[in-house]
Amino acid sequence: MNGNCSKEEINSINMLKFNKNFSPAYGEMTQITPLIHRLVAHNPSPFTFFGTGTYIIGLKPNEGGDRKIGGSSSSEAMSGSSPHKPSEGGDRKIGGSSSSEAMSGSSPHRPKVAIIDPGPLLPSHLHALENMLNHVTISHILITHNHVDHSPAAHPLKVITGAEIYAFDVGAQADMDNHAEEGRDMNFVPDHILKDGDVIKGDGWTLEAVHTPGHLSNHLCFALKEEGALFTGDHVMGWSTSVVSQPDGNMKDYITSLEKLLTRKDKIYYPTHGAPIENPKPYVKALIAHRHERERQILDAIKAGAATIPQMVNMIYCDIPSFLHPAAASSVLSHLIHMQGKGQITCDGKLDQSGIFIVT
Ligand SMILES: [Zn+2]
Repeated sequence: MNGNCSKEEINSINMLKFNKNFSPAYGEMTQITPLIHRLVAHNPSPFTFFGTGTYIIGLKPNEGGDRKIGGSSSSEAMSGSSPHKPSEGGDRKIGGSSSSEAMSGSSPHRPKVAIIDPGPLLPSHLHALENMLNHVTISHILITHNHVDHSPAAHPLKVITGAEIYAFDVGAQADMDNHAEEGRDMNFVPDHILKDGDVIKGDGWTLEAVHTPGHLSNHLCFALKEEGALFTGDHVMGWSTSVVSQPDGNMKDYITSLEKLLTRKDKIYYPTHGAPIENPKPYVKALIAHRHERERQILDAIKAGAATIPQMVNMIYCDIPSFLHPAAASSVLSHLIHMQGKGQITCDGKLDQSGIFIVT
């Protein structure tokens, strides 16, 4: 660790403890809180951890009861997950609950729910989502960002249910030719474009869109006002740091989006991958401190003679398996672009994986 760290930052870095405790029941809808259920897709990987967690918002306990949805009891509540006070947010209403009538044959006795990140085009996951439709009406499909483990099931779900798709605009995304990054869902097109602060009201739930660019430029978190909960997508995850890769990932935006969460009053985070994050602010501070520390390591590596990204990766990431080095190299490039913007380094040649870097 570099001697330039403040005591507060060293304390924050030490707070960065990953929670790998997560054992999903694949294909089964599990109740997490009074308003939140989760269905985990069987697509585990080094980037998705145990798989994509699709959240179902608005199915209340007395509506779910003890019946089986997607294969098991839906009444498995998480301890300590009582509703919280609403968090702060914007007022602009989008969609309202009008689109909840979109599905033909919707009955007043069927709960109307929102889906956050329907997930990948995986037959078992689509089948589990279809099973759920025997019990609920989907009124809104919300997307945190258009990576292939988050958004591709949105379109088939829309075709089946008539529910419309809500997401941030994908029109300004940078082209991706970087294969070290998670793949982007190139076919993704939302029906409604959300902006920061937009509020969607549904059947007993209120979700606010919180724009958090960095992992991708279109990344949104969603705040559930009734429970003070924030669905953080891939922006903040408890089991790992987030991938921030060129060209659409942006380290400056990512750190700014972390700082943005510190200004909010959300009590608990629900990432797409892995377990919830309770008491999230110290964790977010630790993620920020970790990125600052990484920049110090990069500066030290350059000063020690590592002028290229592969040399920096070998020096800094010597403890991770080599198959993750391309992702690490992509992350280092994102840091270097941010550091050049701050005037800490310059690049001789192209500002990409082939660049030669010098401390200014
Ligand atoms: Zn992602």
